[in-house]
Amino acid sequence: MDLGKKLREALSRLTGKPYVDADDVKALVKDLQRVLISNDVNVKLVLSLSKKIEERALKSEKMESLSLKEHVTKVVYEELVSLMGHSYVPRLDKHKILVCGLYGSGKTTTCAKLAHFYKGRGLSVALVAADTDRPAAQEQLEQLSKMVGAAFYTIKGEKDPSRIAAAALKKSKEDIIIVDSAGRNAFDGALVEELRSIADIMKPEERFLVVSADIGQIAGKQASEFNSAVQLSGVIVTKMDGSGKGGGALSSVSASDARIAFIGIGEKTADFEPYNSEKFVGRLLGVPDIGALMEKIKEISQDTDLKAIETEELTFESFYEQLKAAKKLGPLSSVFSMIGAVDMPKEIVQQSEEKMKKYEAMIGSMSKTEKKDASLLKNSQSRIARVAQGSGCSEKEVREFLTQFEKMEKMMGMFKRNRGFRKKMEKMMSGGIPDLKKVG
Ligand code: GDP
Ligand code: MG
Repeated sequence: MDLGKKLREALSRLTGKPYVDADDVKALVKDLQRVLISNDVNVKLVLSLSKKIEERALKSEKMESLSLKEHVTKVVYEELVSLMGHSYVPRLDKHKILVCGLYGSGKTTTCAKLAHFYKGRGLSVALVAADTDRPAAQEQLEQLSKMVGAAFYTIKGEKDPSRIAAAALKKSKEDIIIVDSAGRNAFDGALVEELRSIADIMKPEERFLVVSADIGQIAGKQASEFNSAVQLSGVIVTKMDGSGKGGGALSSVSASDARIAFIGIGEKTADFEPYNSEKFVGRLLGVPDIGALMEKIKEISQDTDLKAIETEELTFESFYEQLKAAKKLGPLSSVFSMIGAVDMPKEIVQQSEEKMKKYEAMIGSMSKTEKKDASLLKNSQSRIARVAQGSGCSEKEVREFLTQFEKMEKMMGMFKRNRGFRKKMEKMMSGGIPDLKKVG
């Protein structure tokens, strides 16, 4: 997320200073304005945010225990959270969900993500294909339902989506019933009719509108339109991973009469989470969001080993294990930023499978002591030559691996110096909740 990097830069200019005065706060607010507006956040929203930050940062309620720097950071954090809206708590009782939205917003994918989400919480799920516009849409959902292990209902050839919904309701015994509906190029009366007729029959407890983050602040307008037509219970913002306008989408929906329920952060079914504005802003500002990471880790802990993140020493083996585990976690950059390693060099985390195999072979060709002490290799041409020969790689490739490892070592060093990170980690391991409000 581009927004995050720029925000962190703006904030770090401030936190890098020995002390903070009014001019610094004004400069920070200017930076923030630029960043938010380039992220398609509405200008009026940005101005009112700036005003609040300036007022609060310079005048009010500084807590004794905070330095001015910490105080300003806290104010920025809190005001951004309020700009980005309320958090959503998913209901986990038996219920029915209607998913709607325009073409290509990510409805069908989102239905599968919802199914995966509720299944992961012990609920049985049925997916219902009521998009009768495109025959391929039914097949797409059928395939996805197999993938996530959800029941699937539709009536091939049926043109009336409300009949499909009615038949599915009759047959299904599942806890959660998710109905995928047809889109349009634009919001129109025919779509409203169609959605109302489905809703009349299925009486969904949740009505979710799916919008793509790349439409920026238009998301707010769409949310209002759909909300007045079919009374949304929430908006799902997809493609947060690939858009430079995510901030605009989130803030505009929050300012509308609808609210955000979930966000999609990648193409895979697990790239999805209930919307939590504190978590989101924490991530933007580079506060380690350990809670979100732990949720993901729990999901995949059966087949993945992430112990490297906890270990004290970075060795070749733990580096490799960590890369391997992190690759399984989905969009790497977001995972690394969640654990506090913000803006990890892309070339480290985007290793190809081919390279990973080579790394494994290189590590296999190292002696026990070399595996534990990277400097042995770094300083010895003959050791490098031996590892290259043993692994069938070139010496250049071995050196490349050493360079990657060194960069990672530096990152880990920053990690450890990151005040409070280890404490939070320990606290979380013993079940406590990290205090995200204490940024600084
Ligand atoms: P629909 O027409 O609204 O049903 O949209 P689809 O579910 O078919 O999705 C359209 C495209 O968006 C597909 O290629 C999806 O893989 C992609 N997509 C959906 N959600 C996300 C997301 O959160 N991130 C990314 N990167 N792609 C997504
Ligand atoms: Mg679809």
